[in-house]
Amino acid sequence: MEKLIIIGSGPAGLTAGIYAGRAQLSPLLVTGSALGGQMALTSEIENYPGFPQGISGQELTQLMQQQAERFGTKVQMDEVTAVELSTHPFKVTTYGEEYEAKALIIATGTSPRKLGVPGEAEFTGRGVSYCATCDGFFYRDRQVVVVGGGDAAIEDAIFLTKFANRVYVVHRRNRLRAEKVFQERAFRNEKIDFVWDSVVREILGDGSVTGVRLRNVKTEEESVLEADGVFIYVGSIPNTRFLEGQLELDDRGYIVTDRRCHTSVPGVFTAGDVQERALKQISTAVGSGAMAAMEAEKFIAELEDRAYPERLG
Ligand code: NDP
Repeated sequence: MEKLIIIGSGPAGLTAGIYAGRAQLSPLLVTGSALGGQMALTSEIENYPGFPQGISGQELTQLMQQQAERFGTKVQMDEVTAVELSTHPFKVTTYGEEYEAKALIIATGTSPRKLGVPGEAEFTGRGVSYCATCDGFFYRDRQVVVVGGGDAAIEDAIFLTKFANRVYVVHRRNRLRAEKVFQERAFRNEKIDFVWDSVVREILGDGSVTGVRLRNVKTEEESVLEADGVFIYVGSIPNTRFLEGQLELDDRGYIVTDRRCHTSVPGVFTAGDVQERALKQISTAVGSGAMAAMEAEKFIAELEDRAYPERLG
C-alpha cells in the first residue's frame, strides 16, 4: 500500500514529488510513456525563473527528477492504464503492476490535438510530426510546413529553421496567437514565410509527405504547397481517457477541480495542464504540483488521525 501515487512526470508531477517527498510521504511517481512530458520535448525554455540563459527541457526534467528522488520519491517508468476510485484505498493499474494508494495526484497533462485531415494518420512518422525537437533533425536543407499560430507552432517554427531551409507557417487567421517575443523573432527570421487565412485540407504524399493541399478561407481558393515535412500544433487534448466514469471531467475532458486542486473524489488531487487552465506554463504547472502535494499530505494526515485517534491526544 502506497500513501501517495503521483501519475505523470511533467513539471506538475515532478514538483508534487519534491513536495510530497519532503513531507515524508515516500510517494510513488508513475512517469507515463515519457519522463518530463511536454517539458522534455521543449528545445529551450527561456521563461522559467532561475535560468537567465535558458535551459533545455531535457536538462530541466533531469534536475527536477533528481530533486524529487533526493527527497525519497520513487520514480517508476511505467504507464497507468486504469484506476478504480470508487473504493478506498484507490486501485491503480499500470502495464507492469497493480497498486493501492491512500491518495492520488493526477498530473497526466495533455497530448497534441490531431488536425483530422486525410493523410495525417497515414503519414504520421513519415513526414507528419507533432514535435520539432524530436524530428526536426531529419529535415536538414528541406522544406517544411508548420500548422498553427500559437506558442507551440511559432516556437517550433523558429527551432526548425536550424535545420530546414524554408519553413512555411500555415495559419487559419491573419494574426498569430503566440507570445509577442516569439512573433517578433519569427517575423525577423528570413527562413520563415507565413501563409495567412489558410487551412490544410489534405496531407499529400507518396510513401512519405510531398506537400499539403491548402484552402484560403477568405477566397476559397485551393493550392498545393510542396513540403517534405508537416509539423502540426493545433492545440492539445487532456490525457484523461483512463479516468472516464471515475471522476468529474468537463465537456472537453479536463479534470474539474477547485482552487486547491481537489477533484470530485476526496483524496484524488490534480495538477498541471490536465486541469483546464488559462495559462499553460511550466511555472504554473509547478505551482499546482506544490499545492496538490500539500493538500494530499493534509488528506493523508487526517486519515491517519482518524485511524489512530490516540495520536490526537
Ligand atoms: P494554442 O491553443 O495556444 O494554439 C493552437 C493554434 O492552432 C491556434 O493558433 C489556433 O488558431 C490553431 N488551430 C486550432 N485548431 C485548428 C484547426 N482545426 N485548424 C487550423 N488551426 C487550428 O495551443 P499551443 O499548443 O500552441 O499551446 C498550448 C498552451 O501551451 C498555450 O497556453 C501556450 O501558451 C502554452 N505553450 C507555451 C510555450 C512557451 O511559453 N514557451 C510553448 C508551447 C506552448 P487560432 O489562433 O485561430 O485559434
